[in-house]
Amino acid sequence: MALKLPVYMDHAATTPCDPRVVEAMLPYFTEKFGNPGSRNHKFGWDAEEGIDYARDAAAKLIGANEKEIIFTSGSTESNNLAIKGAAYMYEKAPAGSKSRGHIITAIHEHKAVLDPVKRLVKEGFEATFLEPGEDGIITADMVAAAIRPDTILVTLMWANNEIGTINEIPQIGRVCRGKGILLHTDATQWTGKMPTNVETDNVDLLSWSSHKIYGPKGVGALYVRRHRPRVRLQALQDGGGQERGFRPGTLNVAGIVGFGKACEIALAEMDSDGQRLLKLRRRLETELNQAIDVSKVNGHADKRLPHITNISFGFVEGEGLMMAVKNIACSSGSACTSASLEPSYVLKALGVGDELAHSSLRLSLGKGTTDEQIDYAIKEIITAVTKLRAMSPLYDMHKEGIDLSKVEWAHH
Ligand SMILES: *Cc1c(COP(=O)(O)O)cnc(C)c1O
Repeated sequence: MALKLPVYMDHAATTPCDPRVVEAMLPYFTEKFGNPGSRNHKFGWDAEEGIDYARDAAAKLIGANEKEIIFTSGSTESNNLAIKGAAYMYEKAPAGSKSRGHIITAIHEHKAVLDPVKRLVKEGFEATFLEPGEDGIITADMVAAAIRPDTILVTLMWANNEIGTINEIPQIGRVCRGKGILLHTDATQWTGKMPTNVETDNVDLLSWSSHKIYGPKGVGALYVRRHRPRVRLQALQDGGGQERGFRPGTLNVAGIVGFGKACEIALAEMDSDGQRLLKLRRRLETELNQAIDVSKVNGHADKRLPHITNISFGFVEGEGLMMAVKNIACSSGSACTSASLEPSYVLKALGVGDELAHSSLRLSLGKGTTDEQIDYAIKEIITAVTKLRAMSPLYDMHKEGIDLSKVEWAHH
């Protein structure tokens, strides 16, 4: 069978809806359209049954109680609610300090964590932005060293969306627990792909999103611990008191049912999908690294998600590379800002230089990824890099053994 182009290798950006998810959602648009808040008729009860099913499936996926699940519009909202909600609830100004409280995070978090933290800093909180080493990992020791008497919250992602590396969340949770500090984790790339248990992993607040696990867009959840400790949050909006008052507003019933189905499938198929994707990713990395000199997988070699890789290719120009691999739908190491191409701040955090960051590809695999697609991607990327290097005088110099770091470049 002919390969359908372009090939989708951007599952860290979003995933297609699983047909089983769509099927589960359909009745909730037309027949079971009631408002789950309508407590006195069948339409309301039917909708509530869907919500209960989803809450149970979401809780099971992370080892929580269903009372601890707050449905939101996705991880961005969950992160905002967790970070700002906890900061406003637990703020404390120690004697003689002007700070409202201290928060610990890291420089290579997703913007949906960085921006809420920066907002809080503008409002009088203080924050430490931890810096990872070349492996991209934040360790429990780094967190322990950053804790202050006025620290109220640690917010660190479980796995990184650009490079797939895994932070030491259970160990970090243990450090926080010992100090009476809350741990929030943006688990958007982790949960649904890797085993998650909020009890044994010592997590107090956890965000995840439906559309990264084959559910519909615009839905997600925040786990809010109810015991040891009971976490309180200040709601960010006022309204009808739904979701224990944390997130008022009529629930997105069909979306939530789809999310629940996605959680159920994720739990059932996590092991087999993970093992299959790990093999495919390893083959992709190995064959590219063998065929292309001066190429490098970014971040820790083993402490990473099965399905995400991020590879830098030396001596190729970033924009040219993206153009040359346009039949592979993936992400580059550049972020488009209004005026220019900025190198990825995540790769910069690992010490990857601007040039190499631009010529990096994030390839993220998923349920639909086949052996054939991996073969195609390997072939396409090798061809593209070879072609671009044939036009690169720097690559010629490198081949001749000239140490380019010692060359004095003309300024212009
Ligand atoms: C995709 C993503 C988000 C944003 O999630 P939405 O549900 O799209 O708001 C946040 N954090 C990480 C790590 C992500 O990968």
